[in-house]
Amino acid sequence: MDFSLNDRQKQLVMQVRELVEQEIKPYVLVNSFSRQQEFDWYLVNQLSELNLVCPTIPVEYGGLGLDIFTTALVIEEIAAGCPGLAAVVDTNVHAVQPILLAGSSSQKERYLPLLTGKNVRIASFAVTEPSGGSDINSMQTYANKTRRGFVLNGCKDYIFNAPQADFISVFAMTDKLHKKASLRCFIIPARTTGVTIGSTRDIAALEYAHIAEVLFDNAVIESDMVIKLDESYSGYLLLSQTLDIGRVVVGATSVGIARAAYELAYEYAENRLQFGKKIKNHQAVAYDLVEMATKIEMARLMTWKACWLIDQGDDYTIASAMAKLSASIIAQEVTGIAADILASRAFEKGSVSEQLLRDARVLSTVEGTNNIQRNIIASLL
Ligand SMILES: Cc1cc2nc3c(=O)[nH]c(=O)nc-3n(C[C@H](O)[C@H](O)[C@H](O)COP(=O)(O)OP(=O)(O)OC[C@H]3O[C@@H](n4cnc5c(N)ncnc54)[C@H](O)[C@@H]3O)c2cc1C
Repeated sequence: MDFSLNDRQKQLVMQVRELVEQEIKPYVLVNSFSRQQEFDWYLVNQLSELNLVCPTIPVEYGGLGLDIFTTALVIEEIAAGCPGLAAVVDTNVHAVQPILLAGSSSQKERYLPLLTGKNVRIASFAVTEPSGGSDINSMQTYANKTRRGFVLNGCKDYIFNAPQADFISVFAMTDKLHKKASLRCFIIPARTTGVTIGSTRDIAALEYAHIAEVLFDNAVIESDMVIKLDESYSGYLLLSQTLDIGRVVVGATSVGIARAAYELAYEYAENRLQFGKKIKNHQAVAYDLVEMATKIEMARLMTWKACWLIDQGDDYTIASAMAKLSASIIAQEVTGIAADILASRAFEKGSVSEQLLRDARVLSTVEGTNNIQRNIIASLL
């Protein structure tokens, strides 16, 4: 395993870091985001300047064609500046992954270019339902076969990007008897008849990214919206592989959040004087900084290892579950330690540290809760 960055990766990281420092962080500092207001396309458009709204889209479809490792490098940088923007990008990566893994060439030609270039769009990935997010078999959204495709009925909930999505990658059952064995993936344009965006979910984290229900009422799914699978590749396997890959981008988001909290705390500890010296020079605070830096390195290396396995085509399920589990816990620990160092100002509403605390906390729920990661790991030990 070799994690030394090549020249292209170094250049890309520097470009994103520069964009984050010069455009994204200053914008985030003076603008608060609310899901009650219209989506603010400014930050997505800034990212589109570097064609990074969905980094994994292949070059032939207008993207940069980054591998998962390089995508994780980019997402860490974005998350360090605006975790909600990283959530938009993570969701795009999820939404296109079933198409990249098993989509037809016409599906690739139709959907992938939408998330590239200047007039960029965003997409959603919809699995969770009111009946449950962890237990796939509890899904109530069914697609019934018709002569021309399927008719879809049900509801998906807590779906990132849903109000703005151009298309939604939806997993649904096709057979009540075989439940998850009958799972299929449908790539559904948001304007399809019978598809509506329901209530906004105003989660107190990652506010830049909007979240909503998606309702299907006899939605007409043409056959070209279905990802065609054969017996050797089930819908459940497609979902599992998509989630396994998605877990490392959540890992990278966690690392970016933790890094932002560390940098904030370090700068404060460098400048704050108590008892006649910088608080950084009180050994207990220095140890806190050591703890943060060491844990961030652990989370980053576990994420990178999982990325490396994915890019090698090696078995990555356990590594990506471990990366998501550990990185999301470390993001909570590190933002918590940063709050201790920043003390009274850490919890000021709307401050960067207060936002980071909330953003880190929710990552143990998204992309399969941390208990679900533990179940995956336990089943593979
Ligand atoms: C900010 C945010 C954004 C999201 N974006 C998306 C999205 O874009 N697309 C999407 O499809 N979903 C999305 N989700 C939904 C998310 O994936 C689900 O919330 C998650 O999978 C958990 O599902 P649930 O909330 O129904 O909890 P439940 O499945 O009801 O779980 C409740 C609790 O029980 C625990 N639990 C359940 N089963 C077990 C078990 N077998 N063993 C041990 N513990 C168990 C869980 O760990 C959890 O602690 C998002 C959620 C949030 C908060």
